[in-house]
Amino acid sequence: MIPAQFDYLAPTTVEEALAALAQHGDEAKILAGGQSLLPVLRMRLNAPEMVIDLGRIPSLRGIRDDGDAVVVGAMTPHTVVGSDLLVAEHAALVSKAIEHLADAQIRHRGTFGGALAHADPAGDLGAPTLALGAQFVVQGPGGTRTVPAEEFFVDLFETAIGEDEILTEVRLPKHTGWGAHYEKFVRVAHQWPIVAVAAAVRVEGGTIAEARIGLTNMGSTPLRARAVEEALAGQPATEDAVRAAAAHAAEGTNPPSDLNGDADYRRHLATVLTRRAVLTAAGAGG
Ligand SMILES: Cc1cc2nc3c(=O)[nH]c(=O)nc-3n(C[C@H](O)[C@H](O)[C@H](O)COP(=O)(O)OP(=O)(O)OC[C@H]3O[C@@H](n4cnc5c(N)ncnc54)[C@H](O)[C@@H]3O)c2cc1C
Repeated sequence: MIPAQFDYLAPTTVEEALAALAQHGDEAKILAGGQSLLPVLRMRLNAPEMVIDLGRIPSLRGIRDDGDAVVVGAMTPHTVVGSDLLVAEHAALVSKAIEHLADAQIRHRGTFGGALAHADPAGDLGAPTLALGAQFVVQGPGGTRTVPAEEFFVDLFETAIGEDEILTEVRLPKHTGWGAHYEKFVRVAHQWPIVAVAAAVRVEGGTIAEARIGLTNMGSTPLRARAVEEALAGQPATEDAVRAAAAHAAEGTNPPSDLNGDADYRRHLATVLTRRAVLTAAGAGG
């Protein structure tokens, strides 16, 4: 289908983009990589009067080292983030998740910030950024604010980004030396997960000192598997100990039921995938 007619603006600074957003209000839509927005426009699920393309704003692209964090510009394509050495060294969980995100074409066009702003509960970047305690930098007419991951994901396709704001960058706290693994369960290759688990684990002398675990598609937003994290702390990185802790993976979740599986099936998947993800992250096999 062909989208409804819209006007198009391609500003070269964030300030210009914000001015256009302020002028057009809820008649405007931000365009990043277009991998989610363009299908929505083509199906006429949304018909904005103005599309503001962030693709010509250089300050929104790139990855930099900022002390205790690796900072990823919102318009940085998945493929760049996924192959970046800083991200691989200090936030490996994100690199691992991007290996499994869609296909090469979509990873080339789709952006890190666009996927997170889209907030699809089945999106592959929510769980790893939540697990790592990412900070989301959002700019609006009143200036810049930083939103912790715990507050960023509000509901299904809803984030803390205001209508007059733009996500400019994501700060990934360094987890240098942590083991990481993203375990994604799909029915069809290159698709969104039925369930996925993001696990980052710090192992000291064979013992799990700390674990951070995010769940994908186990509710309307990405979730932390806090009960598993608590159960893992201080346990040996062995199959039996990890299996016992992973049994708590579905606690506090509210998974959907759909054609790919009902809620009980997803709860079961969460325990199996958590065991595999933690064991692999801990270097104990899966
Ligand atoms: C066939 C297919 C398979 C896919 N498979 C997967 C998958 O397996 N896993 C996965 O995680 N994703 C998957 N995706 C989605 C992909 O990750 C997209 O890149 C992502 O959802 C949207 O990113 P984008 O840069 O294209 O954003 P766009 O589509 O341009 O924008 C998405 C939404 O976010 C808003 N937005 C974008 N950037 C900003 C910003 N900086 N500030 C404020 N609002 C903003 C837009 O207004 C829009 O509402 C798939 C997509 C397709 C088409």
